[in-house]
Amino acid sequence: MLKQRLGFKPRKPIQKKLGGLQVSRIKSGKKRRKKGEITKLKDRLEILQKKVVIKLYGTLCYTHQPQATDTMTKQLGHMPWARAELSQTCIYDYRFTRIQCGQCNGFGQGMSMTARQRMTAEGIDLDAMWTLNLATKGKPHSKDFYLDKIKEYESLLSTEGLDEQARTR
Ligand SMILES: [Zn+2]
Repeated sequence: MLKQRLGFKPRKPIQKKLGGLQVSRIKSGKKRRKKGEITKLKDRLEILQKKVVIKLYGTLCYTHQPQATDTMTKQLGHMPWARAELSQTCIYDYRFTRIQCGQCNGFGQGMSMTARQRMTAEGIDLDAMWTLNLATKGKPHSKDFYLDKIKEYESLLSTEGLDEQARTR
């Protein structure tokens, strides 16, 4: 809010690519398709992912400076890289996300430097994460990928699964 008053331009929203297919479908006057199956799976997965992140890392904004004791909003923020830079594998990998307040996630432009410093200080191997991103970027992800991830997170959210994960991290 403050930034805007000081004359900073708000970020342009990221435009979603429109495939030629969709345009012709609209023109042909066919009924709009219902929400796709994969989109529904992604929605479900993201809800589970946020629960996993909260269980593992807590609800405090990861990048707030000075560290907040609580914040009004608790969003799932991608870090240290923006969601747009990530493959589907990494977008839905909880290790690439933390809870952020709307201020850090939006106006703070993701606070990637702060996230990078904190993750490095915590001993997280960012190079390995980026390597995973490069290896999986642009590859098609099937319905099974999302279903498997949903299963994985449901299991992590069961107490035993999470303990197991905490020991091996
Ligand atoms: Zn914050």
